[in-house]
Amino acid sequence: MSVQVLAAKMAEVELKDVPSKELTPESPLTPKADDKGMVENEPKATSATTPTMEPMVKTGDTSPGFLTPNTKMPQASAMKRTDPQQNGGEAFVNRDGTVAEAPRLKKIQFADQKQEFNKRPTKIGRRSLSRSISQSSTDSYGSEMPALMALRKRAQGEKPLAGAKVVGCTHITAQTAVLMETLTALGAQCRWAACNIYSTQNEVAAALAEGGFSVFAWKGESEDDFWWCIDRCVNLEGWQPNMILDDGGDLTHWIYKKYPNMFKKIKGIVEESVTGVHRLYQLSKAGKLCVPAMNVNDSVTKQKFDNLYCCRESILDGLKRTTDVMFGGKQVMVCGYGEVGKGCCAALKAMGSIVYVTEIDPICALQACMDGFRLVKLNEVIRQVDIVITCTGNKNVVVREYLDRMKNGCIVCNMGHSNTEIDVASLRTPELTWERVRSQVDHVIWPDGKRIVLLAEGRLLNLSCSTVPTFVLSITATTQALALIELYNAPEGRYKQDVYLLPKKMDEYVASLHLPTFDAHLTELSDEQAKYLGLNKNGPFKPNYYRY
Ligand code: NAD
Repeated sequence: MSVQVLAAKMAEVELKDVPSKELTPESPLTPKADDKGMVENEPKATSATTPTMEPMVKTGDTSPGFLTPNTKMPQASAMKRTDPQQNGGEAFVNRDGTVAEAPRLKKIQFADQKQEFNKRPTKIGRRSLSRSISQSSTDSYGSEMPALMALRKRAQGEKPLAGAKVVGCTHITAQTAVLMETLTALGAQCRWAACNIYSTQNEVAAALAEGGFSVFAWKGESEDDFWWCIDRCVNLEGWQPNMILDDGGDLTHWIYKKYPNMFKKIKGIVEESVTGVHRLYQLSKAGKLCVPAMNVNDSVTKQKFDNLYCCRESILDGLKRTTDVMFGGKQVMVCGYGEVGKGCCAALKAMGSIVYVTEIDPICALQACMDGFRLVKLNEVIRQVDIVITCTGNKNVVVREYLDRMKNGCIVCNMGHSNTEIDVASLRTPELTWERVRSQVDHVIWPDGKRIVLLAEGRLLNLSCSTVPTFVLSITATTQALALIELYNAPEGRYKQDVYLLPKKMDEYVASLHLPTFDAHLTELSDEQAKYLGLNKNGPFKPNYYRY
């Protein structure tokens, strides 16, 4: 059965058709928990360019391409992924000089543990790493990333990404590794860089390299390193990407700036973040977008899950790991009550914190009020709060004036994509002393002895300082994979040089693949009910404008 017909069927099948126990993970990529390679260094200021705020109202073609039986798909052509030469097998694990350019690289060393292993020299060395990784991967990712496992399983016969050369720039975490493996199983070749200088899990980058992937990233890159890694991803003789998977728009921006001719071969861009999507709409508005782009951020299965639940689950983790703070009774300021802000507020409220919210949008502001939070202006409470968290996707939300007025010991951090929300640069003045007290934690000390606790130098806290819930990322990763498949296989003319949302039916499909984990039983419409509501019994169940 062809993949597209399979996919169409998948949307129709009963959910029990994909029981989670059937979904045997194949990933050898799970890190050992104590393997984190921490690199202490002093990165320069922001890497991302400033996002431009623009309304995002564009909705796309509602015909679900990958799910449409008569979509023309490429011929199946299996690609062996285990040949390290094919993908290059390059990795740059830390910056202390122990890892050279692959495929000839020999040693990987994690700075904290001083743990060394040989990447290629002995079979024993390789086998022992692979075995420990795949064992925990089997335990972790079968149930936590069920949809990616299902995609792999169901696309065994045909490769919807055969011939795709995907260049990616996302957080390099274990979950991303499972996505990369899945894309490869679907027929793609992948080269990857990190979208954030702090979020790379070194052990994952190392495992990916060992598995034959070209990964250019390590935790604690400088800004120069960051762009160098991106450049190495695309600047390669004999290999040109034809798909982009971006998170934040930096990779897209780099290709536009340095290698505009590459767009002749690129079939599409899949963008995950609010920030990157803003940039795409900006390009589109200026008439400069030269390929179709898929706005995954505004897919319901991304925005309403990743942004909300991921942050609800990880904000406390990030704060605990860095500061050991107790939340009960603490006064917390959350700037922005969008999806990320809502998740943070819910978690903090549940722990007994007193939560204040700032908003510029009266609708989100009213939501905050009705959810029981005090809506204030930052300057009204800045002297009394114990923790300040920015979640706006905006710039200069917490500026020096506010930092000056914070009380001693106030913890300041950011959950937005870019490090522009807190004006960290304004703290680099001669009268202030910076003290690195532990990895990702700086005390900034005023002349009178007051100190604030700045986390991850204003970069997004959860991905820099903690881990994030795999199951939620599975939903995002599956949406990304489907977006790539859809753009890569779309017949000429379906997508123009514009920004699109994934068809609603694909969102519903992604959600349906995750329901069996909960032993959830979805109600089916009767014929009579479907007619009454004017719906197809197999979806889509909501119009595009529905807000969930
Ligand atoms: P959103 O647009 O839903 O919410 C942002 C909110 O901030 C909006 O309601 C907006 O009105 C408000 N806002 C803007 N400027 C403000 C200001 N000066 N003061 C107060 N409020 C202001 O976006 P979101 O989905 O919540 O994402 C927010 C940021 O978090 C983005 O940068 C996004 O890329 C990032 N993000 C982070 C994670 C993570 O894991 N940390 C996950 C998803 C998204």
